[in-house]
Amino acid sequence: MKTISNVVCPFCGSLCDDIEVDVDDNRVVKVRKGCAISVAKFTKYNEERIYKPRIDGREASLEEAINEAVEILANAKYPALYGWSCTSTEAINVGIEIAELVGGVMDNTASVCHGPTIIGEQDAGISTCTLGQVKNRADLIIYWGCNPAHAHPRHMARYSAASKGRFVKGRKERKVIVVDVRKTHTAKAADIFIQIKPNSDFELLTALRWAVKNGELEQEEIAGISAEKIEEIADMLISCRFGALFFGLGLTMSAGKARNIEAAVNLVRELNNYTKFVMVPMRGHFNVTGANEVMAWATGFPFAVDFSRGYPFYNPGDTTFVDVLTRGDCDAALIVASDPVSGFPAEAIRNLAKIPVITLDPHETLTTMISKVVIPTAIVGIEAEGSAYRMDAVPLRLKKLVEPPPGILSDEEVLKMILKKLKERVK
Ligand code: SF4
Repeated sequence: MKTISNVVCPFCGSLCDDIEVDVDDNRVVKVRKGCAISVAKFTKYNEERIYKPRIDGREASLEEAINEAVEILANAKYPALYGWSCTSTEAINVGIEIAELVGGVMDNTASVCHGPTIIGEQDAGISTCTLGQVKNRADLIIYWGCNPAHAHPRHMARYSAASKGRFVKGRKERKVIVVDVRKTHTAKAADIFIQIKPNSDFELLTALRWAVKNGELEQEEIAGISAEKIEEIADMLISCRFGALFFGLGLTMSAGKARNIEAAVNLVRELNNYTKFVMVPMRGHFNVTGANEVMAWATGFPFAVDFSRGYPFYNPGDTTFVDVLTRGDCDAALIVASDPVSGFPAEAIRNLAKIPVITLDPHETLTTMISKVVIPTAIVGIEAEGSAYRMDAVPLRLKKLVEPPPGILSDEEVLKMILKKLKERVK
């Protein structure tokens, strides 16, 4: 048995990099320091596995499956390539090359989660920092529309509210505010819980900004919160030494979407006239930030990149995969490390089921069940190495802990084989 230290957990955007894993006989037998989700990921990764490639539901060799995938992509007029948030940065890079070669649209799961964050940041800029700076310096933390106690279980202890930093020693030296529509477990651990009316984040952010500017609030109540309380919170924000606003889908996906982020960016910018304040999105899948980073540095755009014109074109709401699908525009799809069928709107799924779909995934999902070609791949961070970007855009190296099942390659290797054959096929 061997113990592998400083393992990066390939589950959520926190990418905790202090996990210890015991490996015996090519199996993970014990996980230390990880949260319950992490332990489940490291120890149950072999459940619901796919071991053999499939074409139209029948077993096929890897070569046959790759040839079929190449035929589908080469013959498609407007293929879509989607997913990418649970694979390595290196695999995403190969995916971009394929999308460019076949003139398709390349989108990642940010388009259905933190896409509005990126659009809001593009419109208004962002004052941000690394999680290390929050841990060492932040004496005021806001969680807005997110519930790290459930979704990022070690975030509060390792990087934010309860972390022991260099200049701020722990939970007692930090104030914690939670803004949410319901009293979550994170809210129960907060000093102040602000229960906001659903879909009124923009109003509260704007009112807070006005109060920070020392403006007078004319209404007695905004977004379900009294003017007096808003002024009290504004005073707290101004008087902290270093504030950090963490926000999740409760902000990005409620009414206003990108405008909410713009309002949050403007509040944080205003606060920087008085103190130091930053904001960091709570990214979900372990490399969704990487998908945005790689696509941005390779094409200039972070998601929803359309290559059909012969150059990268970006128009969220038009070139986003869910919109392309709902309109019935794409005639083939390559899905990597994602399961759109389990979460997309019915019309989009109906159209996906009508076209040839190629899916690369280690596990059986609803999407693999409607796919023409299924190629099983190794699990990044357990059976394959690669890099991923943490929610604060810090890149970390994921380790290979065990060998994958016989004949199973990584996403990167399979995509490189597809790309090589496509280059010969598409001149
Ligand atoms: S908080 Fe996220 S990255 Fe950290 S151990 Fe838990 S699941 Fe893994």
